Amino acid sequence: MKNEAATVIRGGRVYEAASGNAPPADILVAGDSIVAIGPAGMKAPVGAQKIDAKGMLLHPGLVNAHVHGHGNLAKGMGDLWTLELLLVAGPWITGNRVAEDKYLGTLIGATEMLMKGCTACYDLTLEIPVPTPEGLEACARAYADAGMRSVVAPMVADASFYESIPGLVEAMPPALRKEVERFRLAPREQTLAAMRKALRGWRFDHDLARPAVAPTIPHHCSDAFMLDCAALARDFGVGLHSHVQESKVQVIVGLQRYGKTQTAHLQDLGLLGPDFTVAHGVWLDDDDVRRLADHGASVAHNPGSNMRLGSGIADVRGMLRHKVNVGIGTDGANCSDNLNMYEAMRFASLASKVQGPDTKQWLTTTEVMQAATLGSARALGFEGKIGLLEAGYKADIVFLDLTHPNWLPFNDATNQLVHTEDGAGVHSVMVGGRMVVEARRPLNVDLAKLARQAEKARERLERANRGNRALYERLEGIVNRFCPGLARTPYHIDRYAGGHFEHQHAGRPGLKVE
Ligand SMILES: [Zn+2]
Repeated sequence: MKNEAATVIRGGRVYEAASGNAPPADILVAGDSIVAIGPAGMKAPVGAQKIDAKGMLLHPGLVNAHVHGHGNLAKGMGDLWTLELLLVAGPWITGNRVAEDKYLGTLIGATEMLMKGCTACYDLTLEIPVPTPEGLEACARAYADAGMRSVVAPMVADASFYESIPGLVEAMPPALRKEVERFRLAPREQTLAAMRKALRGWRFDHDLARPAVAPTIPHHCSDAFMLDCAALARDFGVGLHSHVQESKVQVIVGLQRYGKTQTAHLQDLGLLGPDFTVAHGVWLDDDDVRRLADHGASVAHNPGSNMRLGSGIADVRGMLRHKVNVGIGTDGANCSDNLNMYEAMRFASLASKVQGPDTKQWLTTTEVMQAATLGSARALGFEGKIGLLEAGYKADIVFLDLTHPNWLPFNDATNQLVHTEDGAGVHSVMVGGRMVVEARRPLNVDLAKLARQAEKARERLERANRGNRALYERLEGIVNRFCPGLARTPYHIDRYAGGHFEHQHAGRPGLKVE
């Protein structure tokens, strides 16, 4: 990504985050960064390469705060899935992956994201039963090869889904109990040693691809394991990311296990901090949000996945009121199907608006755009480096075609970025001063070859995972009776905004489980 030559991008309309407007301006890039933004026709060094951006809107690359690269080969494999059914489907839809599948799946996602205007992501990737330095390297290499920035965090735990839900295994017939026993995870020491080895041997520039640590779901981890993960992340100065209070089942299990919310428990363990990202946080109460704010933590808001899995609607207005940093994510292709950050922004806006007619509680398009750029950038640990078109920031720039019907006519940059654009207007994309998509074609990826490889992998995995699919079909009914039973536990959540959440929660103030 080192590129010292100067480039001047002339004739475009440059998105200004502060005003929400896009006045005509030129951008001077040197190396991987923006050095100046000035009036059209501004001076540029002799010999600078010129890029013609006439008829283009230039906006900062969108930043995906939560995605799962391993999910890309499982695209479209399910429909009526709750989070719990998705976890049960895991061995079927993501089982039997060999090293080249890890690279291939991640490369497919990187290509999709770049072609849809997203230039950096926080990828929580999965290797069962234990992460390997080679597997994590393959993921980071896929992003680097495509030309995209990434944070790659292995999802780890020391208890399986079945061990993490009290009473679930006991509700199964003995034959099935035996079957799910084989999903037991590697011992904690083995997982931690593998991650330590990967972090120590990390060979990528941290501005391009950096590692992080993702204790996947708090109640899938022993406290000792969570503490070890935090110590490891802090030893290496990298981020921590966990799915917290995503589904109501998780909240009820957390309350049963800890006698308090998962967020309160994480605070007591000392895990919350500016390096900590909560994924989803659909079921955070007002005190939880305050806890995150007090510790400077971030939330990765994934409205598409939250709706798709029936998890609910996160209270982003409450998070912003308490000044919690909020980023936006798509979640994985195995649970929200496409990795389209424009769609994620639109969902974030619409999910805030569907809850009632009090417009003061709604997210503005400015807030949504800010979350999908600067908010996500901070969650990734790239604060001050990406998410803004300004001198000193990395030259991660999306070129939108203003002659595309999405922009006919061009009335308002922010409203149309969030509500109208759907990725179809993306013409070209620059990351770190280099073009990675040009005239709608990825420059570093051979799409025809990718399609052949994807089909070969699909065929092989379909065969290899037939047994896992059959097991899923035997488990589906049991899990889908047991977990919704848990989710029917009366649970009242205190959200400051009150009234208009009543259709989702019982609405009585104060956290209470009956
Ligand atoms: Zn996730």
